[in-house]
Order: sequence, then C-alpha cells, then structure tokens
Amino acid sequence: MEKVPAVGTIAKIPAVGLGTWKASPGEAAEAVKVAIDAGYRHFDCAYLYHNENEIGAGIRHKIKEGVVRREDLFVVSKLWCTYHEPSLVKMACKKSLKALKLDYLDLYLMHWPMGFQAMEDLVIKGLVKDIGVSNFNHEQLERLLNKPDLKFKPITNQIECHPYLTQKNLIRFCKAKDVSVTAYRSLGGSREGTDLLNNPTIRRIANHYNKSCAQILIRFQIQRNLIVIPKSTNPKRIQENIQVFDFELTENHMDEIMSLNRNLRLATFPTTESHKDYPFHIDF
Ligand code: NDP
Repeated sequence: MEKVPAVGTIAKIPAVGLGTWKASPGEAAEAVKVAIDAGYRHFDCAYLYHNENEIGAGIRHKIKEGVVRREDLFVVSKLWCTYHEPSLVKMACKKSLKALKLDYLDLYLMHWPMGFQAMEDLVIKGLVKDIGVSNFNHEQLERLLNKPDLKFKPITNQIECHPYLTQKNLIRFCKAKDVSVTAYRSLGGSREGTDLLNNPTIRRIANHYNKSCAQILIRFQIQRNLIVIPKSTNPKRIQENIQVFDFELTENHMDEIMSLNRNLRLATFPTTESHKDYPFHIDF
C-alpha cells in the first residue's frame, strides 16, 4: 500500500479540497466559510461554475476575520475551452481572479485538453503559481510533456476517479511522469450520479470502520496518493468529508474497493465528443 503523506499535501496541493461545481451562488460563500472553519485550505473552482464571485466573498470574509491568510490557502481555477485562444487566456484568468478577489491563483488548470502555451505566460506574469491540466488522456499528457519548448510542467491532471472508474493505467502513467492526480466526482456525483454512496461493499467497509460511505470513498483516494475534491454545500457533510485522517483502510479493503471498477465514466462532456481532441475515445 502507498504511504499516505503525513502532512496531508501531495505535490504541494492539500490532499482534500472542496469541490464547488453546482454550489449555487446562494450557497457557495457559506460553504466556503464552513469549510475553512472545518480545516479545508484547498478550493477547486472554475469559471464555468458561475460561482467564483461568491466563493471569493467567503474567502475574503475568513481572511478579514483573521482565521486564515491568503498564503494558507490553495485556490484552483480552470480555463474553459472557449478561452483557449492565446489572446483570451490572460483575460479569462483575470476574470476569475477578480471574481475570487485574489491577486494570484495557486493553480490554474486547463479544463479541457486544447492549447497550453498562453497559460505558461501567466506563471511568468505572477498571476498563477502553477499550472495543471484536466481531463487529459495519457497521449495528450505525453505530447504536452514532450513539447520541446515546455516551460512549466503541469503539476496535476484532474480526472474523474472513483471505485467504478479507478483509472489505474492513467494514474500509473501520471505518477511515472511525476504529475500528481486530482480525483473529481470521487463520491459519484449527484443527480446524474451513481449508487456509489449506497454500494453494499462500500457500506459494509464503512460500518467496519464506523465511518460514512463518503469518508471511505475519500480515504480510498488518499491512500492511493491522490488529491481529492468532494463537493458539498451542506455544513455537516463538508465537515464529515475532511475527517478522513484518523483511520486507515487495510490492503484487503483497498483491493476490494479497487475490484468494484467497471470503467464507468460519468462526466463525458457529450457536446465535445466530435472534437478532434476529445480525450475519452481511447482507453486511458
Ligand atoms: P462529487 O462526487 O463530489 O459529489 C457531490 C455530491 O455528493 C453532491 O450532490 C453532494 O451533495 C453529495 N455529497 C457530498 N458529501 C456527501 C456526504 N458526505 N454524504 C452524502 N452525500 C454527499 O461530485 P462532483 O461532480 O461535484 O465532483 C467534485 C468536484 O470536482 C466538483 O465540485 C468540481 O469542483 C470538480 N469537478 C471537475 C471536473 C473537471 O472537468 N475538471 C468535472 C466534475 C467535477 P451536498 O452538496 O448536498 O452535500
């Protein structure tokens, strides 16, 4: 079994972050405040989620209260593909910064695999500390890493990952290239989601440790040395989802959870399926 990092960070990213997709503008600021009080320091945001303004308000509130400093936080945003044109990249980044009320992002992800160079300039200009990618398959990542003029290596590949889509091959590939992996939809998501939170195996294991199914799903990823960003706007669940550092799944339980894999992809981005860079036409 992989050794869980004692400090709770992987490739300088706090191991558990708050997901914010579908956090409505009415809920987002409060969720961020509750999360900061519960110990979250990593926030996974995106221009596409239409709530960066409220997330920024929550962050600002907690900084003003003196609960955290900017440098204690790890704030991630993502460049959506309508802004991949090099001339638009800086503008898009500044839009997110303005909404979040921040001078810089800790990490800016290319939300979807198309174009990269203009993102590197953001690091040079000091608008973002690091850059990363999301939804890249191994060929796309390899191509990017092999670019002779690559200035900044992506520090993470944010991908869908949960027991029904364990992503063994892509994770092995990323690790071999020293690119960390951030697992999204780790609980199986909501409306369009799965029964993962009610899966009998997960439930039995949860009962064994006296933990919730969500905590098992999150801990599972941490023990694989992944960063994990469960989304919740419910105060009790926000707190629950970070209480995952006081127990350890046995190797047998890890194997059992791994064996639930059925290569079931939930986030398929169907509107982009015919694009030449659609990442999910190959195995990994
Ligand atoms: P998740 O797997 O995190 O599931 C979120 C759902 O689970 C919500 O409905 C939430 O409801 C519920 N939930 C949260 N905690 C618990 C709990 N302890 N018990 C029971 N239910 C719970 O799905 P997401 O798709 O939101 O993925 C997480 C994050 O990953 C996103 O928010 C986003 O930040 C990122 N993401 C990135 C993508 C990309 O392309 N890069 C794509 C998809 C997601 P409630 O809020 O009511 O608690």
